Amino acid sequence: MGQYWDVFCIDNRKRTGHLGKLAEAFYSEPHMLESRLVRHRTVEQPAPATPPTAPLECLPPLVKRRICTFLAAVDVDGLLCVILSVPHLSAIGQAALNDHVSWAGKRIITLGDYAKNVPQNLLSADEEKCLLNRDDCSSYVLDRDVFDEIYGVSTSKAYPRAYEFSYARHEKRRTMNSHIPIEYLVNRSAPLPANRVLRNLTLKQYYRDDSQCNRQWCGCCTDDNVNDNFGVGQVVLIMTCWSEDYSTSFHANWTADDVHGEWAGHRLDIVASEKVAADWEDVTDVVRAKLMRLRDQPE
Ligand SMILES: [Zn+2]
Repeated sequence: MGQYWDVFCIDNRKRTGHLGKLAEAFYSEPHMLESRLVRHRTVEQPAPATPPTAPLECLPPLVKRRICTFLAAVDVDGLLCVILSVPHLSAIGQAALNDHVSWAGKRIITLGDYAKNVPQNLLSADEEKCLLNRDDCSSYVLDRDVFDEIYGVSTSKAYPRAYEFSYARHEKRRTMNSHIPIEYLVNRSAPLPANRVLRNLTLKQYYRDDSQCNRQWCGCCTDDNVNDNFGVGQVVLIMTCWSEDYSTSFHANWTADDVHGEWAGHRLDIVASEKVAADWEDVTDVVRAKLMRLRDQPE
């Protein structure tokens, strides 16, 4: 019996969409979710040179935040247009966009088709109901950016209005330095910190993410040396997987315990290693040993 797997961000009700069998996702997307889990994004943004004049810009900050939060929920393309076109809403709009699209610090679980329950004490009754009724498409929506990252959909297709606007503006105001390219706004271009760790905020543990993954077909890592490192996507898949059925398409023998990942439903993010408190537990070797044991790929 085979099953497909799908990564869910519980707190913003997003999903990657089904990724195929676990071993397929493991080997085809070793760096999946890295840009989504990065905690600190920096967007170059000059402060507006003039005071606000338009009625929308003069609204109290609380109202502006609510407008942007609402837009983030219903129309990300529209919010991008606002960020690009209204200087005095740009910072608030970007904060709302980040809060809405980022998976950093939010609860994450990788569910198999045959998951019949969810981890205890991590979800509200409503969240549990939504996760177990995944066929209801209104419960969890496809995260377009993750989907794009995986399937290579271009920004212009994902956000046609903002892209059009950004492009037209760029042509018109080529010499002005106030222009923010749309690629800076959508998360795919988020830079990864050099010395980064994947943190589990729920357990106060971290995994040191060395830059080279253990991969055969990874297009990101060019070092041919075989090593024991894994991409963040691989760690997330194995540590947060959850199902009642332990078919994964890996060749290794998976047990019922192995498909109940220790990090399923936990809050994860990626930060520079300096951001980890001294009393947090380094579980890199434990995680690596687990992945080494379970990773055997099918022929
Ligand atoms: Zn790689």
